[in-house]
Amino acid sequence: MTMSRSIIWQEMIQLSPLCSGSLHEQYLPCGKPRCRCHDSKSPQLHGPYYLWVRRIGGRQVNRTLRPGPDLEKVKAGIENYHRMQALFSDLLKQEEEKVLSSERAAETEGKKNFRRRFRKP
Ligand SMILES: [Zn+2]
Repeated sequence: MTMSRSIIWQEMIQLSPLCSGSLHEQYLPCGKPRCRCHDSKSPQLHGPYYLWVRRIGGRQVNRTLRPGPDLEKVKAGIENYHRMQALFSDLLKQEEEKVLSSERAAETEGKKNFRRRFRKP
């Protein structure tokens, strides 16, 4: 069953926060040379940190986030963004099908006229 246009728009309006890109969990060394993260035998890296990678105007923009409310908002935003994309492609498919069916109707109309005009008596 396909969703109606207005139901799609209604759901889209409610999708907030919206965040593009992706999150990557990271464990990193720090700048202190004597820290446990630089231990040559069993380095214990710091983290988790979350690298949020997205594109703004064709440029890749990275933000490092610690666990907390901002990270939770970005996670929710990315989920919403995927839902938004799914809804949008559904909408686009419906709109394009409408365009194509009117094209087909025009074609059929054209053929009928063609047959009518050139039918032999
Ligand atoms: Zn360290």
